[in-house]
Amino acid sequence: MSPAFIFAIFAVALIALSVFYLFFYRTWRRERELEQPFPKAWRKHLQTAVPLYRQLPPPLQKSLRDQVQLFIAEKNFYGCDGFEVDDRVRVAIAGHACLLTVKRSYGDYDSVRSILVYPNVYRVQAPERDGMVVGVSDQVRAGEASSLGQVVLAWSECESGAMQRGSQHNVILHEFAHQLDYLDGSADGAPPLGGEQAKEWQEIMTTAYDHLRHSLRHRSTSWLDPYGATKPAEFFAVLTETFYQQPHHLKEQQPAVYGLLRDYYRLDPEELAQG
Ligand SMILES: [Zn+2]
Repeated sequence: MSPAFIFAIFAVALIALSVFYLFFYRTWRRERELEQPFPKAWRKHLQTAVPLYRQLPPPLQKSLRDQVQLFIAEKNFYGCDGFEVDDRVRVAIAGHACLLTVKRSYGDYDSVRSILVYPNVYRVQAPERDGMVVGVSDQVRAGEASSLGQVVLAWSECESGAMQRGSQHNVILHEFAHQLDYLDGSADGAPPLGGEQAKEWQEIMTTAYDHLRHSLRHRSTSWLDPYGATKPAEFFAVLTETFYQQPHHLKEQQPAVYGLLRDYYRLDPEELAQG
């Protein structure tokens, strides 16, 4: 056999293995995982740590439990600065993250590989540009997301915001909304969307973003956390927090934006809250 022939056989085998992994192995592995019962203790953690879970109809609660089970099996959790990641922490983070995909596709999180959890807000040295001068600034963060599949969270912020019903902030939803935004390769405040939906998104979100920035320039109060006005990617992440945490407020202030997010997440948190 010539070296070229051996190489061709090797290449075909490699392609076949890749196709198997991409299309069959992952599905097979997930089906096997879901044959395991959902632990009773996890169900309790979901009820206490994810307030919206209790409002979901039973079939959606089941879908969320399935996604949480896969999430915990597949993602790596790391405690930082001595923080100990236990099941309550894993279920709380997975439960909130999967609220964004429970009616969409869990596959949206395929590229998320690791979640780093700090006990409290943490300091980072971030590069900062001022005109031609590039320096380093000391920043305090509650969380961050990277397009390389990493999410960082401060547990104190999860407990004081995300796990409290009606709280304005939910750092878990915020960082995982960024992950959805990254799916099309750019952090531009628009996740991957189809034709008509993309056009509508562009029009409505641009108008709402400009309105927010304008109202912040001219008034001291605004309808959204001012952090949402820093750039379109933060606008989408902060809107996602408000959509799930304070749906009535968002629907009242920005009904068109609310409608877009309802169509995108395929959930109506305001209706669930009334139900
Ligand atoms: Zn952000």
